[in-house]
Amino acid sequence: MAVSYFKTPEHRFTRMYFRDIIGQEALKKKLLQTVNENRVSHAWLFFGPEGAGALPVALAFSRYILCTAKNGDDACGTCPSCNKVNKYIHPDLHFVYPVNKTRNMDRDVATSEDFIADWRNFLLRNPYGRLTQWYDFIDLENKQGMISTEESKKLSAKLSLKSFESDFKVVIIWQPEKMNDQASNKLLKLIEEPPAMTIFMLVTENPEQLLGTVRSRCIHVKISRITDLALSDALKNKHNVANDKIADLVRLSDGSYLKAQELIADTDELDYNFIKFRDLMRGCFKGSISEMMKITEEISALTREKQKSFLEYGLRTVRESVVLHFDTPGIVFITEGEKEFTPNFAPFVTGKNVISFSNELNKAIADIERNGNGRIVLLDLALKISGLLRK
Ligand SMILES: [Zn+2]
Repeated sequence: MAVSYFKTPEHRFTRMYFRDIIGQEALKKKLLQTVNENRVSHAWLFFGPEGAGALPVALAFSRYILCTAKNGDDACGTCPSCNKVNKYIHPDLHFVYPVNKTRNMDRDVATSEDFIADWRNFLLRNPYGRLTQWYDFIDLENKQGMISTEESKKLSAKLSLKSFESDFKVVIIWQPEKMNDQASNKLLKLIEEPPAMTIFMLVTENPEQLLGTVRSRCIHVKISRITDLALSDALKNKHNVANDKIADLVRLSDGSYLKAQELIADTDELDYNFIKFRDLMRGCFKGSISEMMKITEEISALTREKQKSFLEYGLRTVRESVVLHFDTPGIVFITEGEKEFTPNFAPFVTGKNVISFSNELNKAIADIERNGNGRIVLLDLALKISGLLRK
């Protein structure tokens, strides 16, 4: 399941300072030093695996460069420059990223400019996001994004102007390998003969796909996978993950903060499904129509995907209940609640009703997929399960 960008409330927006980067302590120090000692070179290539934070590093670095009251460790957060970077509307901070024409667009070629409002939103919601999430965010459907020659032309026109507010102009190019050869060559020219006081930051997961000539003009900064320690701190402090779950999540995340976020979202869904399924089964067992209605109405208000996920969770629990009859030690409960509930529930799933039980759940899943009315499908299911449990 993907992290839902649209759900992120504004108070959870990430404005990306050095202090917001997960891990990468040594790298942060190095980058700070180059600015503090006035040795910032004009072309950088930030590269590393998905979810490790190449883009967040470039964002924090450019914010620090543009800040007019930096304190040596991080940007100040209150100067006019920081205020503008907070919304990604600083006139000297330019972005280039892959785009394509969307359904409602009538011009021939799309460029980053056409999506700047979405881009700002995307960055604020999750600067660790991946390319396919960006494509979903701007509704590219099945199209691929690209960086066009038109884009390079526009960029070079923009950079020929003097900077507006800062000494420097900073250009962040996300996924530069999405340029065609012509666009890459234009970029190469810009990097070879850079406009005054301009800093290029190329950010990619696939540096090998860039033109060698572009690569060789840049200072290379490798972003390594996030250490387990840094990741576990982030889960504890930023996400309030329970202590007993952290080690598992960190192991499964494999150094990616993005993966960790996705796992947390999955765990939240799992907890939700468990509680609702347990309560529904209790209502069914008692034969309480009002309890059954209350829960099925709540579930039917969710998206179809979530309704299906709830029913699939139910199927899994029924299957595990049968396995429990045979006292198989291999069974793994994911949450504490399940450990307690499933053994109590298992005796009610018997050789006599397990097939009907599964059939009813599968039928409900199929009905939901076929756009059946969730309220009716789920209540109908609850009544049938109630019959099975109370036989
Ligand atoms: Zn500042």
